[in-house]
Amino acid sequence: MSNPVLIIGGGPAGLAAAHSLATVGKKCVIVEKEDRLGGAPILSGYAKLVPSDEWAKDAIGGMVQRVENNSSVKVITGTNVTQFDGTPGNFSAQLSNGETLQVDAAVLCSGFTHFDSVNKPEWGFGTFPDVVTTTQVEQMISSGNGVRCPSDGRQPKRVAILLCVGSRDRQIGREWCSKICCTVSSNIAMEIREELPDCHVYIYYMDIRTFGLYETKYYWRSQEEFKVKYIKARIAEVTSDGDKLIVKGEDTLVKRPITIPFDMVVHAIGMDPNVDNPAISETFGIELEPNGFIDVANRYGEMGATSRPGVFVAGAATGPETIDDSIAQGHGTAMAVLSSLEAFRKSA
Ligand SMILES: Cc1cc2nc3c(=O)[nH]c(=O)nc-3n(C[C@H](O)[C@H](O)[C@H](O)COP(=O)(O)OP(=O)(O)OC[C@H]3O[C@@H](n4cnc5c(N)ncnc54)[C@H](O)[C@@H]3O)c2cc1C
Ligand code: SF4
Repeated sequence: MSNPVLIIGGGPAGLAAAHSLATVGKKCVIVEKEDRLGGAPILSGYAKLVPSDEWAKDAIGGMVQRVENNSSVKVITGTNVTQFDGTPGNFSAQLSNGETLQVDAAVLCSGFTHFDSVNKPEWGFGTFPDVVTTTQVEQMISSGNGVRCPSDGRQPKRVAILLCVGSRDRQIGREWCSKICCTVSSNIAMEIREELPDCHVYIYYMDIRTFGLYETKYYWRSQEEFKVKYIKARIAEVTSDGDKLIVKGEDTLVKRPITIPFDMVVHAIGMDPNVDNPAISETFGIELEPNGFIDVANRYGEMGATSRPGVFVAGAATGPETIDDSIAQGHGTAMAVLSSLEAFRKSA
């Protein structure tokens, strides 16, 4: 049991798992398919994170540095695992760069894929340049250029944020709630109002799920302090009159049709299963749950256990998760890996 632990994916969950393992002297190898670590918050250029208000590049960037400076962690980027054979304490992983690794265990921290809004064509993304996603607005803010209409660079005077795009939508096969997008949207709405005090920001929702302590800090604060308006509605379509974007639907509280002009419409996109999951399932011999996320086999006895002994999972690979919970799962699963290896050693 002296081989390193293989960690797939260098997002918040993978960085946390690597840090925990390295701290207790267990070597590990992070295999990341992109050319740098940090996962979605870094790769997609998130701005200030919920709920810490820290910039993603500082908060998650700090986690990246901590791991990169640790001599017990080897980082291999631009690579994925093509074959994985063996048993706990004695696995062999073939990498796409031609390398072979002998590892004691694996932790799948391979995360999620952002919902692609072109799969919701009636809401205008891909047709009208000023229909954007929450990720694009995060990038506008984190770049320091401010929130601008992509079509001509003007400051928007009216912004609509549409919630549950690619979540809670049976018609497109996505029944799950993506958990964090209500809170992220309230936060983005406040950031827009702070930068552009003359801009009116409306959030169109089915239900608001600013869960736990986020209710006060995001839902109520955005209304009371930042004058963000919330409208319970069913959106039918987003069109254009040639000048403004037109959001059409029904206000479901007063049961009246609505047709409202905006300069910018923002899709609060959800968290899809990682598009690689079928391949990951095949390579690692592990089960997916019915929606396509990686199945957690044992929720109470062994943190992050999958259907295959010695292969673990943490973070948004298991389903929509916040960064805090992904990090917590990364740390907790590192402990589960160590205790399972100890149990295998004793039984050998
Ligand atoms: C618009 C938006 C804003 C958000 N803002 C917040 C926020 O403010 N606060 C918050 O708590 N949460 C936020 N989230 C959720 C947050 O993105 C996730 O909680 C977090 O990224 C999950 O971390 P992770 O490490 O599990 O997965 P990821 O961040 O997805 O990282 C997975 C890593 O694995 C790599 N990978 C994938 N497949 C493979 C493979 N086959 N081989 C090798 N590597 C692979 C990926 O390249 C990536 O680096 C937001 C989500 C969205 C959609
Ligand atoms: S968190 Fe909010 S926006 Fe996201 S899917 Fe759930 S209800 Fe919809």
